[in-house]
Amino acid sequence: MTDTCAITDYEDYGSFGVLWKTVSEDCNLACDYCYYSTCGGKPGPRINRIDSAILNTFIQEYMEMSKGSASFAWQGGEPLLAGLDFFEEVVTLQAAYAPAHTAISNALQTNGTLITDKWAALFRKYQFLIGISVDGPSDIHDERRVDSRGQGSFDRVMKGIDCLRRHQVDFNILTVLHRGNIKKAKELIEFYEREEFAYVQFIPCMDFRSQEIGMAGSYDITPEEYGQFLCEAFDYWYNDGQPRTSIRFFDNMLSVCTGREAELCVHRSGCSTMLVLEQNGDAYPCDFYIHDDWKLGNVAKDSLNELLLHPARMSFLGMKKTLPAACQNCEYKPLCNGGCPRNRKWADDLSVSDPDYFCSSYKRIYAYADERMKTLGASLRRQLFTENVQRNFKGRLPGRNDPCPCGSSRKFKNCCADITVS
Ligand code: SF4
Ligand code: SF4
Repeated sequence: MTDTCAITDYEDYGSFGVLWKTVSEDCNLACDYCYYSTCGGKPGPRINRIDSAILNTFIQEYMEMSKGSASFAWQGGEPLLAGLDFFEEVVTLQAAYAPAHTAISNALQTNGTLITDKWAALFRKYQFLIGISVDGPSDIHDERRVDSRGQGSFDRVMKGIDCLRRHQVDFNILTVLHRGNIKKAKELIEFYEREEFAYVQFIPCMDFRSQEIGMAGSYDITPEEYGQFLCEAFDYWYNDGQPRTSIRFFDNMLSVCTGREAELCVHRSGCSTMLVLEQNGDAYPCDFYIHDDWKLGNVAKDSLNELLLHPARMSFLGMKKTLPAACQNCEYKPLCNGGCPRNRKWADDLSVSDPDYFCSSYKRIYAYADERMKTLGASLRRQLFTENVQRNFKGRLPGRNDPCPCGSSRKFKNCCADITVS
């Protein structure tokens, strides 16, 4: 069995967020690669949305445990099928139960086709951050993101995005990488720039076989294809040292090059502590571990403390740190941290695993981007350092043991002490 974390109370683990599958697998689209929804784009007349009593119980208990911040992510199926009244209820409960001065954040991942001005007004009012799934320009997107009649959804998605823009809602773009766009890095980046999409992230398309939890995740694209895609995308993203579009994978690399930790769980030293809930309240440690073997309980019956301290969650949190020998000695470990445990093939007792399925993709992009990332990182660090010295230290250098002004969380003497302030 893998090492388990020595946590005896949730207090030891700090704050945690929640990702909730708002309407179970109900969805108005029938994307051909989706392995979650089986309703074929035709949800029944009664949407399986989260029950009000469970919502109330959970939000009350979660808010009592929140320590100044509460973070909710709403996913589907298609979460907008829950209706405006559902999200009005959510924000009302959040406000009713939140201790004073709690920062509440709501993120929502949607296919974008149901967004209207009313939805956008609600998102703006309550400052939801919206993720929209777009796989590229219409010819690429419409191949696979279709409705129950097989018709592409691109035009409806773009109308939804127009609503968000009219109401100044913050949004980002999520592109699933599959065999239809994996060789089209240039086309994708040009599309994002043309549409002025400022924030983009890629997710490799998982294969239906990935529902078998005992297997390593399997994908619609090969590690070679993913590595090649990332290198080509990097060339466009880099743009002579002046990136115009924020691409999450590269932003994470840049963070590490400026002395910070990556923000993506895949490349952090530990897995996300987020609790993942099915629509009926069943709880799991990660979206990729929704399986009976990893079920922690149900928020309607079990206390949050019981769910957070469940042995399966402890075991899960230990997996990421149980790195294969290849990762422990890898020159790219600070950037990669071994990737995602779901992408490793594990021994039955979880004591040992192969490296991440995309290991060779990561090695390839890290080597390819190395020099330019380091140059960009050094220049960004210098810029942040100079700005913060002027702003926070009135132009004088901080003490050697002060936090470094570049924001790396390291002491000044161990970080930018060699930088001369202009
Ligand atoms: S298993 Fe993978 S996706 Fe899940 S939290 Fe860990 S790194 Fe992230
Ligand atoms: S690049 Fe490969 S070997 Fe290196 S840390 Fe990542 S998964 Fe492990």
